[in-house]
Amino acid sequence: STWTSVAEARKESAIGPDVEIRGWVRTRRDSKGGFSFIEVNDGSCFGSLQVVAPGELSNYESEIKRLGAGCSIVAIGRLAASPAKGQATEMQADEIRVLGWADGETYPLQKKRHSFEKLREWAHLRPRTNTFGAVMRVRDSISRSTHDFFHDEGFFYLNTPIITASDCEGAGEMFRVTTLDLDRLAASGKPVNHELDFFHRPAYLTVSGQLNAETYATALGRVYTFGPTFRAENSNTSRHLAEFWMVEPEAAFFDLSDNMALAERYLKRLLRDCLDRCDEDMQFFNQRIQPGILDQLTAVAEAPFRHMTYTDAIDVLEKADAKFEYPVSWGVDLQAEHERYLTEKYVDGPVILTDYPSTIKPFYMRLSDDEKTVAAMDVLVPGVGEIIGGSQREERLDVLTRRMDQAGLNQDDYWWYIDLRRYGTVPHAGFGLGLERVVQYVSGMANIRDVIPFPRTPGNAEF
Ligand code: ATP
Ligand code: MG
Ligand code: MG
Ligand code: MG
Repeated sequence: STWTSVAEARKESAIGPDVEIRGWVRTRRDSKGGFSFIEVNDGSCFGSLQVVAPGELSNYESEIKRLGAGCSIVAIGRLAASPAKGQATEMQADEIRVLGWADGETYPLQKKRHSFEKLREWAHLRPRTNTFGAVMRVRDSISRSTHDFFHDEGFFYLNTPIITASDCEGAGEMFRVTTLDLDRLAASGKPVNHELDFFHRPAYLTVSGQLNAETYATALGRVYTFGPTFRAENSNTSRHLAEFWMVEPEAAFFDLSDNMALAERYLKRLLRDCLDRCDEDMQFFNQRIQPGILDQLTAVAEAPFRHMTYTDAIDVLEKADAKFEYPVSWGVDLQAEHERYLTEKYVDGPVILTDYPSTIKPFYMRLSDDEKTVAAMDVLVPGVGEIIGGSQREERLDVLTRRMDQAGLNQDDYWWYIDLRRYGTVPHAGFGLGLERVVQYVSGMANIRDVIPFPRTPGNAEF
C-alpha cells in the first residue's frame, strides 16, 4: 500500500483528489459549524497537515471528537487550497481511521511547552516534538552531506573497529571491554586480571578510528570513517558525551594546508545543504532557538575561514579585556571560554587555529622544525568552540618513535602503526569532526544532550 507524506501533502502541487496520509495528531479543534480541525504530523517535515473532519463522518461523535495529541490516525480525502495562513493545503477528509489511542491524561507531550531538561526524561517521546524533529532531520542532513562530500572528493568510506587495544589520544578516557564474569570472580574472591579482559587481551571501546584510518589511507589514498566513539568523560559539560559520532577523513599526500582546505570545504558544503534541504527546520531554529543563526550560517558558508596560529591566539587572549576562569599562557590547552572569546568576540565566525605546542597534543602529530609545535589544526566556531581537531601526521620513523618514547608509549603495542613508516611512508593528514558539535552549531541548541537521539552521559544509559 502507498500513502502520501505530510511533506508532500503540504505542497501546493499536491492539490487534488484521493490522498491518504498517516501520522500522529498534534491537536484537535472543534468548530462551531459541527466539524473539526486535526493537525497531523508524520515526521517527514517540520509542519503539520490540517485535516478537516466533517461532522458527517460515521465515527465523528464516537471517535473523532475523542482524538487528542499523540493518537495515530490514517486520513483519506481531497487536498484543497487552504484558506488559513501559513499553509498551502489542507485535507477535506472522507474517512479517518484511528490506529492507536493516546490517553490525554497520561500522554506527556500536551500543549504545554516542556524544558529540554524535562524532555530528556522522555527520550522515547521527545522525537515527536517540533524541536527534536527539526534537530534529527538536520542531523540526518549532515550525515548525508558527509557521505556525499567525501565521495565527491574521491574518499572511500571505511569502517574502523569499535573494540580496540590502543589508546589513540593518550588521554586515559577509555571504557574497558571485558568478557570476564566479574561478578563471579568477585564472589570467588579471586583477583581480577584485566590482562585477560578480551579473550586474554586488554580491550577498550575506541576513542578514535584515526590510527586504523591512517593504515587504509596509506593504501587506498583517501578514506573516511564515520562511526561511534566513546570517551569516559566523567564531566558534565554542555558539549561532552560519553558516546558520540565522529567523522574522520584521512588522506595520503596531504599536508596541513590541504587538510585545512578540506575541512573548510566540508563544513561549507554541509551548511549549504542544511540551508537548502532543511529550510523549515532552519527557520524554526532561527525563530525559537537562536535568533540570527540563519544569517550567520549563510555568511559563514560564503566567506573564507580565518586562520591563526596558537601562538597568536595566546597573544590575543593575554591581551583580552575578558576575565577568564582559566588563565592563559603559552603551553596551556585552550578551554571553552577561550575558544568562545576567539570566535565570538575576536573574529565573530569560525577560526582555524594551527601550530599547537607538541606538549598538549598526541604523539602522532607531525613535529615542526622549531621542535616545539606540531602541524595541528583545530576548527573553532561561535557558540560551541572546537568542532574539529586534526593534524598532519608524523611520517618520519625516527621522529615518531622518539615522540612515542617521550609520551611513555610502548612501541611493541604500536608495531603495526610504526610499520607504516617503515614501508613506503608518505606525508598524510586528517581530522576528526564531532557530529553532535556540528549539529549544535547548525541548530543553535545549547546542550549536546539534545542533539543526539539517546544521550550517554555519566549516570545516563536507560534508553
Ligand atoms: P575537547 O577539547 O572539546 O574535549 P578534544 O580535543 O578532546 O575535544 P578530539 O580528541 O580532538 O577532542 O576529538 C575530535 C573531535 O571530536 C572534537 O573536535 C569534538 O568535535 C569531538 N569530541 C571530542 N570529545 C567529545 C565528546 N566527549 N563528546 C562529543 N564530541 C566530542
Ligand atoms: Mg577532550
Ligand atoms: Mg580540545
Ligand atoms: Mg581536539
